[in-house]
Amino acid sequence: MESKKEDVRRKHIRLHMEGALTARDKVGVQDFVLLDAYTSESAFVDNLRKRFSKNLIYTYIGTLLVSVNPYQELGIYTVSQMELYQGVNFFELPPHVYAIADNAYRMMCAELNNHFILISGESGAGKTEASKKILEYFAVTCPMTQSLQIARDRLLFSNPVLEAFGNARTLRNDNSSRFGKYMDIQFDFQGIPVGGHIISYLIEKSRVVYQNEGERNFHIFYQLLAGGEEERLSYLGLERDPQLYKYLSQGHCAKESSISDKNDWKTVSNAFSVIDFTEADLENLFGIIASVLHLGNIGFEEDDQGCATIPDTHEIKWIAKLLGVHPSVLLEALTHRKIEAKTEEVICPLTLELSVYARDAMAKAVYGRTFTWLVNKINSSLVNKDFTGKTVIGLLDIYGFEVFDKNGFEQFCINYCNEKLQQLLIERTLKAEQAEYEMEGIEWEPIKYFNNKIICDLVEERHKGIISILDEECIRPGPATDLSFLEKLEEKVGKHAHFETRKLAGPKGRKRIGWMEFRLLHYAGEVTYCTKGFLEKNNDLLYRHLKEVLCKSKNIILRECFLLAELENRRRPPTVGTQFKNSLSSLLEILISKEPSYIRCIKPNDRKEPSKFDDFLIRHQIKYLGLMEHLRVRRAGFAYRRKYEHFLQRYKSLCPDTWPHWHGPPAEGVERLIKYIGYKPEEYKLGKTKIFIRFPRTLFATEDAFEF
Ligand code: ATP
Ligand code: MG
Repeated sequence: MESKKEDVRRKHIRLHMEGALTARDKVGVQDFVLLDAYTSESAFVDNLRKRFSKNLIYTYIGTLLVSVNPYQELGIYTVSQMELYQGVNFFELPPHVYAIADNAYRMMCAELNNHFILISGESGAGKTEASKKILEYFAVTCPMTQSLQIARDRLLFSNPVLEAFGNARTLRNDNSSRFGKYMDIQFDFQGIPVGGHIISYLIEKSRVVYQNEGERNFHIFYQLLAGGEEERLSYLGLERDPQLYKYLSQGHCAKESSISDKNDWKTVSNAFSVIDFTEADLENLFGIIASVLHLGNIGFEEDDQGCATIPDTHEIKWIAKLLGVHPSVLLEALTHRKIEAKTEEVICPLTLELSVYARDAMAKAVYGRTFTWLVNKINSSLVNKDFTGKTVIGLLDIYGFEVFDKNGFEQFCINYCNEKLQQLLIERTLKAEQAEYEMEGIEWEPIKYFNNKIICDLVEERHKGIISILDEECIRPGPATDLSFLEKLEEKVGKHAHFETRKLAGPKGRKRIGWMEFRLLHYAGEVTYCTKGFLEKNNDLLYRHLKEVLCKSKNIILRECFLLAELENRRRPPTVGTQFKNSLSSLLEILISKEPSYIRCIKPNDRKEPSKFDDFLIRHQIKYLGLMEHLRVRRAGFAYRRKYEHFLQRYKSLCPDTWPHWHGPPAEGVERLIKYIGYKPEEYKLGKTKIFIRFPRTLFATEDAFEF
């Protein structure tokens, strides 16, 4: 078995060397640092294209993995592939997501430290698939004991549940994650996975009540209708046809994957049993899901005074039953608002428009908090208290930079998040480079790079940043609007070098900023945001009256989600922007203390098709993923570095002194070797344990001589 494995490995090494070095014109280089024209975006795209055309979807930039979504099964995720990558040095095999996983795992085991793997890219680029492959890799290759199989299975099965509740079909991706996810996989001192912990970020609640044409609500609604048992559906008062529900049919594609919905329901039901959900949990959970559907079907009418009424109380009765609330109290809360006067509470009727708003706010709040409850519940099933001194590998699957024709509050938050992560990446890469040079005793040559802290500050600085200005507008007494927010921005950050508003007409040929818009110059380029909806989304208001109803619900899950203490606390809860800012800052704290690996995913075309390589789209992503900047930082010093023994092992046949065996210290052997083949002093540096080669051409020449 071992020798067979060794044979395969050798074959791969040979193929890799051919691919990377001698046959590079055909299949490109497997590490971008070996590109001669490393500052040229065209050279970068050419290399990616060459490799993609040969189904080589992975390429490195040093230790960062670039992955292009193949949109087809390539047969590269088999158990034998996993075994191949196990315990092998990073550069001995072709680039693969398994190499990243294995490298992090081995370092963690050897040094007993914590790691994270940050996976980013735009929607549909393959982030979630990559994170699943990594999880599968650990599940298959890590040592395991019988008693810990449950922990492993729970880690694996948490995925289908979270995807059912947090993913949806969008125009960009049939299984798009509508939340950011960070998952710690915990290992004991023997490297056995023993538990985990998940943190979710900013679930897209607006999808619960509205979907664009061609898009769907979260999968779970359709799965429940398609696959749910007859008895369950009748208990929930639901029909099978999703078209009957307003919240499911606005995108006009409710029925498109009814077959897979039915199968997915089975997968999700099975996963629920693995992660320890009781029937009572499920009853409460689906009671909530069904209530959301009933809520969407409540029809409002207007009476003579212009106040909202609900003539047909059929849906109200179902919701009241499922959530354990009083129907008339719920009806009142959906059509009235409590206003606190000096000494008493006054109840005033809502207009039709405000009632619709209250209903949708209730659906969003209920779904959003239930999702958080679900994550907590999964976490309690992943906890393993028996193990102390655990080390972790964190997987971060988070939305990449987003630039659409119209960009709103969500894009603003997402792009701010990417701005922060980019800062971390550049700083860590620079630091790692510097640390390696210092360790190797090589003089550090400072690298010029763009520090995007200035943009992060513009967004997040206390009292002065955009989020603070937005919060101020949200709490200001008097009529604050999205427009007055924009005016405040102009007044307070209008002169900032990375900020523009509509007052500034763009130069000829550049898109002018329209009414209600501002533009940020992000590290990755310009993005124009429309302030429409910023205040409402940041406030995310749920009328107190409705909160009271939900706090008193008999549904156990809702009782945990809407605590009475929240009603007693008269202070405003933090806004969505501030909450996001705080959760990002905790995320960065989590990441800063760990060793990083990075995977950057690229979507090859907009049509979800295999073998289509859209140059324009790819260039765009290379820019937004900051890949050229990363390559520049990584290449500023030396293109290639290898431990002396590895270098010598490969090239010893080129020098009579080192062939067939060199018995002295490897460093001396390498020195002899490169002197013999004529390296010039400016082409290399010798460190304590590694040789550093400045230009790829030096290495290619050596490789060609070797082949000859
Ligand atoms: P989002 O931000 O919308 O969640 P994402 O980056 O997570 O997007 P995925 O859901 O991982 O994107 O991938 C989209 C689809 O692309 C998958 O459902 C799958 O069909 C295909 N895909 C992605 N990666 C691979 C791969 N390595 N091999 C084969 N198909 C893939
Ligand atoms: Mg995803």
